[in-house]
Amino acid sequence: MKIVRVVAVFTALAQGTLAFVTPRLAAGRTTSLFAEESTFADAALTIAGAASSLRGKTIVVKYGGNAMTSAELKTMFCQDVAALQNLGIRVIVVHGGGPQINQMLEKVGVESRFEGGMRVSSPEVVDVAEMVLCGAVNKEISSKICAAGGRAIGVSGRDDRILQCVKEINKDGYDLGNVGRVEVVNTATLRQLLDCGICPVVSPIGTGLPGDDTAYNVNADVAAGRIAGEIKAARVLFLTDIAGVLNKDKELFPKLSIAEIQDLIADETITGGMIPKVSFATSAVELGVQGAFITDGRVPHALLKEVLGGGADGMGSGTGGTVVTL
Ligand code: ADP
Ligand code: MG
Repeated sequence: MKIVRVVAVFTALAQGTLAFVTPRLAAGRTTSLFAEESTFADAALTIAGAASSLRGKTIVVKYGGNAMTSAELKTMFCQDVAALQNLGIRVIVVHGGGPQINQMLEKVGVESRFEGGMRVSSPEVVDVAEMVLCGAVNKEISSKICAAGGRAIGVSGRDDRILQCVKEINKDGYDLGNVGRVEVVNTATLRQLLDCGICPVVSPIGTGLPGDDTAYNVNADVAAGRIAGEIKAARVLFLTDIAGVLNKDKELFPKLSIAEIQDLIADETITGGMIPKVSFATSAVELGVQGAFITDGRVPHALLKEVLGGGADGMGSGTGGTVVTL
């Protein structure tokens, strides 16, 4: 199925010319949108089903720093966000920026290291992280979404106290410095932006609890999972730099339950940066998010494919990635 065809259907949907296609009609179909034999009508029905079932609902997308390194992928991601917005889907983007922070740390000569997938964050490291995330990275994403015909405003977790944190205590006893554990999400502000038709693009730098304006470095997966859980999003998607969650033989798990995830962390199949992703996908699902996806952000238009390719049932495009279930 060519992406141009998908986009054509899309435009028709946005203009309301496919408004007669109900989710009930679309739900009965079984051909994958991406199968060779998929027809234009198949694609239209699938997309219409997904769009109808998500219209007016909120999805949270974690856009990973490692999936953000190519300019083309970045543009496509922002086009996808704008397109989903234009279909009436409310989108919150939470971005990372690990590689971009690393580059700047190197440039200014500040050292940092990771423990259990979290960056150990001295005040100097948080300064650099804030400068990079809330500055260049955040503004590039929000302005590219606007350039693609969407509406976005970039904010950090310190703006209007969107992400209120306490210092994270690592269970293995490492001092992670000013890494924040998100205690409170100011969902009211996010909802107000969404109600205005604006996609909040959130940088994962948090503030303290009332009375404490310390800047905390928050892992972007943690921020996305917490926001999704607190705002009771319909979906949370983690776009990353790998096909999904892999087993020890590097094969993809298409689906994982919370219990399976705990075992995979315990036996060290899941390590490093994948740990916060699966942990906070899990916590979002426990808080009532209907679908959590860990998806390959290196695939062109990964967001659009994952959100619209699953039809009205919405369990992903079926072409990759891992779905986290209860
Ligand atoms: P992001 O920028 O998307 O947050 P991270 O590097 O933090 O990326 O996390 C993704 C990485 O997690 C993968 O590139 C991979 O190296 C690592 N990882 C650890 N365990 C697994 C696993 N079981 N399956 C897939 N990736 C894993
Ligand atoms: Mg990461």
